[in-house]
Amino acid sequence: MSDMGMIINGERTAAAASFDVTNPSTGDVVGTAPNATLQDLDKAVAAAKTAFETWSKKTDAELAAACEAVAAKIGEHAEELALLLTREQGKPLNGLGSRFELGGAQAWAGYTAGLSLPMKVLQDDNEGRIELHRNPVGVVGSITPWNWPVMIAVWHILPAVRTGNTVVIKPSPYTPLSTLRLVEIMNQVLPAGVVNAITSDDQLHNIGAAMAAHPDIRKMVFTGSIGTGKKVMMTAAETMKRLTLELGGNDAGIVLPDVDPKQIAEGLFWGGFINNGQTCAAMKRLYVHEDVYEDVCSALVEYARNIPVGDGLDEKSVLGPIANQMQFDKVKRLVDDAKTKGRVLLGGEPGEGLYFSPTIIADLTNDDPLVAEEQFGPALPIIKYSDIEEVIGLANDSENGLGGSVWSKDIVKAKEIARRMQCGSVWINKHGAIQPNAPFGGVKSSGLGVEFGEEGLAEYTDIQVVYS
Ligand code: NAD
Repeated sequence: MSDMGMIINGERTAAAASFDVTNPSTGDVVGTAPNATLQDLDKAVAAAKTAFETWSKKTDAELAAACEAVAAKIGEHAEELALLLTREQGKPLNGLGSRFELGGAQAWAGYTAGLSLPMKVLQDDNEGRIELHRNPVGVVGSITPWNWPVMIAVWHILPAVRTGNTVVIKPSPYTPLSTLRLVEIMNQVLPAGVVNAITSDDQLHNIGAAMAAHPDIRKMVFTGSIGTGKKVMMTAAETMKRLTLELGGNDAGIVLPDVDPKQIAEGLFWGGFINNGQTCAAMKRLYVHEDVYEDVCSALVEYARNIPVGDGLDEKSVLGPIANQMQFDKVKRLVDDAKTKGRVLLGGEPGEGLYFSPTIIADLTNDDPLVAEEQFGPALPIIKYSDIEEVIGLANDSENGLGGSVWSKDIVKAKEIARRMQCGSVWINKHGAIQPNAPFGGVKSSGLGVEFGEEGLAEYTDIQVVYS
């Protein structure tokens, strides 16, 4: 059992109440997390505000060194954090699971440590000198989802701290423990108050909404659903907070007629089923040209049917259960509907508890809810098309605009189509491969702003221009 405390001003801090966290693989209670009150939130924000006074005055080299130290700490505790993550989230230790997530978290932290936003001279002549400085904004409020909780916490915390801000993070009630421990570990090398973590079951108090409204939080970085993101944006307007919103996606993959179906099957599968499909930029709709339709369907099913699904703690598992009942119910509803309209090629039936083996359903259309809605689970719809113009229209016919992919032997043609897709990232012959040196974000309702790279770092700063 992991009974964690909130981390406020460097101290493990209990709340008056707590809530249970369960293992999706077994239903067993893994541990308890504190159920924060609004006063707890105030304490965490006050600690971050006080720490900002000194943290924001650190030199660039000091901030970089502190982030390097955080990256090293994550590496040191990677296995412990991976085990905790698997217990509360369900994802396997192996495959693209918890160990992979911890590896990513350490890599992102290290890369972000090495980024910098030096002062720029915009003009320096007889008429005068103009300098562009980037100042930290203040206390950053971070709200994270349950799908990649450790990695996303790092994506929020590291750029904030690297640019001289301080942080209060609130993880999802489904996966609070790994974030509490992550922040506790970070506090071994950071001054008290620079990174604080509080947790809530979202029932006792809506701590997320209170953060978006808090007058002493100057920026919100939010990763989650479009619906909640819109609420954060509306609430944050009152205090004119800076916002980075990384929201939902319904990424389309377009397969052109010139592919070798067997060659792309593995990439298509992991594009759609990484983390059981519970990934913002997973491929959630697959459009296949009629000439290769049946062959692509068969190759994909052939690959998918051999994937070991089981308890996340079993070293042999490559996919685990769906992470929580709420998401399981959503996937089941969408699959049940799709079964009445399309052709089930694989799966389609839930297993024990929260298990739902990979499901592939062909012959669907954009009007079917499994295609139109973000399923965020292990169920991929396949849609047949005959004309390129038609399929680009179908792919763009969505309020989402996070990612997309084109699959073809003709890279030039694939890129032309990719450039016409309305989304923040597009991949050729792969899907969802993000990197710390490339800005990532959504267009349309999939978000506001970007993360990663210098562009992502800049979002944690206010520009100040000095004329002399
Ligand atoms: P969610 O929107 O339900 O919850 C996200 C977080 O918001 C949780 O911590 C939750 O406690 C908190 N929250 C709930 N109500 C709130 C309120 N009124 N104000 C502020 N915060 C509130 O999302 P989820 O189910 O945890 O995550 C799945 C979604 O996240 C999917 O749509 C997925 O595509 C998206 N996502 C996007 C990215 C990205 O980078 N674009 C990455 C991962 C996940």
